[in-house]
Amino acid sequence: MLDALQTLDGLDEAALLRASEDDIARYITDWTGMFESQAEAVLRPSSTAEVSAIMRWAHEHKVPVVPMGGNTGLCGGATTSGMDKAIILSLERMKQIRHFDAAAMTMEVEAGCILEELHKQAEEADLFFPLYFGARGNCMIGGNLSTNAGGSNVLRYGNTRDLCLGLEVVLPDGRILNLLSGLRKNNTGYDLKNLFIGAEGTLGIITAASLKMVPMPKARATAFLALNSISDALAVLNRMQRATGGAVEAFELMPDILMRQYAEKLPHLKQPFENPPRFSVLMEIATPEEARAAIGSDGKSVITAELENLLGAALEEGQIFDAVVAQNEQQRYDMWHLRESAALVMIIPQGVTLDVALPLSGIEAFLEDCITKLEPIVPGVRLSPLSHLGDGNLHLNVLAADDEAFPDEALRAQIVHIVDDLVVAHKGSFSAEHGIGLAKKKEMSRLKDPVALAVMRAIKSVLDPHYIMNPGKVVPSA
Ligand code: FAD
Repeated sequence: MLDALQTLDGLDEAALLRASEDDIARYITDWTGMFESQAEAVLRPSSTAEVSAIMRWAHEHKVPVVPMGGNTGLCGGATTSGMDKAIILSLERMKQIRHFDAAAMTMEVEAGCILEELHKQAEEADLFFPLYFGARGNCMIGGNLSTNAGGSNVLRYGNTRDLCLGLEVVLPDGRILNLLSGLRKNNTGYDLKNLFIGAEGTLGIITAASLKMVPMPKARATAFLALNSISDALAVLNRMQRATGGAVEAFELMPDILMRQYAEKLPHLKQPFENPPRFSVLMEIATPEEARAAIGSDGKSVITAELENLLGAALEEGQIFDAVVAQNEQQRYDMWHLRESAALVMIIPQGVTLDVALPLSGIEAFLEDCITKLEPIVPGVRLSPLSHLGDGNLHLNVLAADDEAFPDEALRAQIVHIVDDLVVAHKGSFSAEHGIGLAKKKEMSRLKDPVALAVMRAIKSVLDPHYIMNPGKVVPSA
């Protein structure tokens, strides 16, 4: 197989890594360390034509292919687990910005572009590509599209799907599907682009995308708030949205348990409050207007003064009981650094972590029901709901009373089962932004609408009749 791969059209020396080579290690263990791959080879094509040649060959020889971006996904989507003689196809060498149109505020980029690099490119033209989260230094836009990634700015700008105007995709048989439009209106039949966004590499390989940008905010105002309840947090969010005309970019809820985990595991992080409140919120508003970015006689931007006034009113009404407003870029950085370190203490924690979405008004009732249902099997159970609250997205960490790990796999599975059933009962989604991968496949069979599953299977079998495109992920077999 390896010799055949080496002779494929146009593939150069750097494109093929064999299983025996040292370099291969970083492709076969994922960020969490929980999923391991066994791949015959890693292929690193540098053009769409090369991806197409690889897929034609894989289709002909019925070889499973797993696309890979930055390998930061949290659901095991980019692993070859359970596959025989699979190859990993890394997009990391496809990182060209093909076209940048500052006037149209769009860019056409290859799938291997690192998200942070797209931020830099946009910034140079005084524009902003508003997909933002902790893994931005490593994840790639092809991976972001394939997982329909969210992050902290979804509240204002939407998720990756909302930022994508067009796609180029190599289908499992090697054909190139060109949907690379930069148009904002294009009603020409079925919306094929959106089939591939969020498909986690099960329908084809995204090789390029046309993305939209927004004007770069001229100023941001950032604060940490102390609150007693989630309903108070939602009241503050609505107050801020109304008063600022929807200028809230981020509204990140952090529970006291997380703050104590930081103090214990990452004591160098600067915490805004001496004693962690029941809930903290990191919130940020932004403006592209020069006038609101202007610095007043007190040395503060107009938007910061606006935020302080709004927080003063929320304080008087008892919606918050303390607040710290960032007075300079360093303080803002420290606040965000604290938030973005959450993955280090939560994703590989003692407890069980779930990524779920709930209707905003049902979050408190859902959490109460979780305690009631989990208490009999985990006496003294504690919940730590880190949340992109404006989106109703909870990264819910279920912890034992004594902080001991849950070593028993059956108990962990039971916890997931109970929580996901409650998510569905509260009209939520058991997968919010991280995707399905391998981790949530069981829940797909159990909880996804059976008709939706049948349609997904039908689409998969038409596009990928030999079942070689990231097989075993997302869509459970019938
Ligand atoms: P990979 O992990 O390489 O792949 C993910 C999936 O996409 C796999 O199924 C893979 O097969 C498929 N895939 C990759 N590239 C392609 C392609 N070109 N064509 C077809 N399929 C492809 N996610 C969020 O949504 N919001 C967050 O706030 C967030 N925060 C995070 C913080 C940290 C510290 C970490 C480690 C992860 C976080 N994530 C978050 C999860 C992760 O970063 C995202 O899912 C990201 O979009 C994955 O991109 P990637 O390039 O690393 O993809």
